[in-house]
Amino acid sequence: MNEEMSRRTKIVATIGPASGEPEMIEKLLDAGVNVFRLNFSHGSQEGHKKQTLIIREVLERKQMNAAILGDLQGPKIRIGDLSSERILEHGDQIILTTNPNPPEDYRYVPVRYKPLPDSVGADDTLLLDDGLIRLSVSRVVGQDVHCVVDVGGTLKSRKGLNRLGGGLSAAAITAKDLQDIDLAVELELDYLAVSFPSSAQDLEPVKQRLKEQNTSIPIISKIERAEVVEFEAALDALILASDGVMVARGDLGVEIGDPQLIGIQKQIIRRARRANRTVITATQMMESMINAPVPTRAEVFDVANAVLDGTDAVMLSAETATGRFPSLVVKAMAETCVGAEKHPDIRKSSHRIDRIFENIDEAIAMSTVYTANHLRGISAIICLTETGETALWMSRLSSRLPIFAISRHHKACQKMALYRGVQPIYYDVTQQGIEDIFESAVKCIVEIGALCPRQRVVISCGDIQHKASGTNQLKVLEVM
Ligand code: PGA
Ligand code: MN
Repeated sequence: MNEEMSRRTKIVATIGPASGEPEMIEKLLDAGVNVFRLNFSHGSQEGHKKQTLIIREVLERKQMNAAILGDLQGPKIRIGDLSSERILEHGDQIILTTNPNPPEDYRYVPVRYKPLPDSVGADDTLLLDDGLIRLSVSRVVGQDVHCVVDVGGTLKSRKGLNRLGGGLSAAAITAKDLQDIDLAVELELDYLAVSFPSSAQDLEPVKQRLKEQNTSIPIISKIERAEVVEFEAALDALILASDGVMVARGDLGVEIGDPQLIGIQKQIIRRARRANRTVITATQMMESMINAPVPTRAEVFDVANAVLDGTDAVMLSAETATGRFPSLVVKAMAETCVGAEKHPDIRKSSHRIDRIFENIDEAIAMSTVYTANHLRGISAIICLTETGETALWMSRLSSRLPIFAISRHHKACQKMALYRGVQPIYYDVTQQGIEDIFESAVKCIVEIGALCPRQRVVISCGDIQHKASGTNQLKVLEVM
């Protein structure tokens, strides 16, 4: 296996005007993308439909597995339209107003979020445009929030507005989100990201909508509000109500401040993995590559740090959506991941030795990884899985060994593309006859060039392959 083939940490790339064409999708896949993110904050439903078809067509042609994640816009609070860009300088006064007909005065900036004047008070810090512009509230008068500019910049229409410390919140699911959920169902997307949930309850309308359509899509909750990370119980409840989470550093960082975020990122990743959930680390990971062909060393180290923290995936936003070097940034990220993965700390397991398991299959999954990590001379872990769940459990433990997850369901293969250390392989072992299911699984990995004769593997499977959740066996085999 070459180095890139051995990469464990997955890459999520946001698709946009710079990356939507089939040729670029192909380049991104070759560079290492595992999950494509469609950002429903931009573009039309028609556009997302077309994009999904393009991605699927390329995947089919290249016989590759990648997931598609639809990211709901959610109730992001933004300023309204400005007649022109406004240059704000330190000490300037501006007035954020919810008045629908503000006075003709250049200091007024319209905001559609009605509760704003009641949600902020004197001395609060407000952040515009992902924290690039900082305001300090001097007083609130009726619908007007008077502010002084602390850190200036150029303000453009519809930029995001956050309060340092959090607390600006609107209902989690908007009417547009409901329509986009329907679109995700229609397109059979592999993951659905929910923006700005403030609690597990906020996911209910999403789950309800999916249930009404007799379907389910794994939900990734974006952790981007201060109140979610304030108490461990709130964070854990949201993690448990989700299939995975995203450390959404763009919004979370401006609400709690970057210095706080460093520890919180580690905490979110650790708690998600412990709860058998997936986790994506997102935003401004290689931001300078929007315009430059190489990352800064600080960016390389930021990506590496997330890898060491144990994230399943690292995400690119504007870098691939609108940047100048979409495939170069993916390549730089992939190389960084491989480099960071050489660190000995993340190549061994902390094997849950004190845990009691409820399910046979989870216990077998854990035993498989334990055996593989602790027995001398093992080259790979192989699991046969219907839904991908066994692979998810296995990938919650650290290991230096690749986990080849064989499934005869395309859906499971796509979903597993997100799991750290897991290489999904679409293959139907049941066609080979039930008796030599282990041998045919090993043969399939040999055929893709990832194993050679005399290497040893640990392999798990169930005895009734057509029944989900049936993993009950593990075997150590030598490749013939
Ligand atoms: P966004 O979410 O890119 O949709 O804002 C990610 C983040 O806030 O970091
Ligand atoms: Mn966000």
